[in-house]
Amino acid sequence: MITKAKCPKCGGYLKRTERTYYCSNRRWGCKFSPWIYYGGRRLLTVKLINEMHKKDYVECYHKKKNGKMMHLRLMFREDRLDIDCEILN
Ligand SMILES: [Zn+2]
Repeated sequence: MITKAKCPKCGGYLKRTERTYYCSNRRWGCKFSPWIYYGGRRLLTVKLINEMHKKDYVECYHKKKNGKMMHLRLMFREDRLDIDCEILN
């Protein structure tokens, strides 16, 4: 399924599967493919990814499956295939 989110590495559209997003330019070598779930619950959304394009990082609160609230900082890392989750609390 194609989404309105764009790949931070090449600008291609991201597609989504049940558990990950992946770049529509995968066949031409772009391997950006972040997980949608974190701590057992959905974290990544098209809105969050698009916010990350505008800023260096995005902070959000995320409730894990065990009920624990986490304060996260999300950012793209150029040398990584994924999104960096830094736990702030
Ligand atoms: Zn890409």
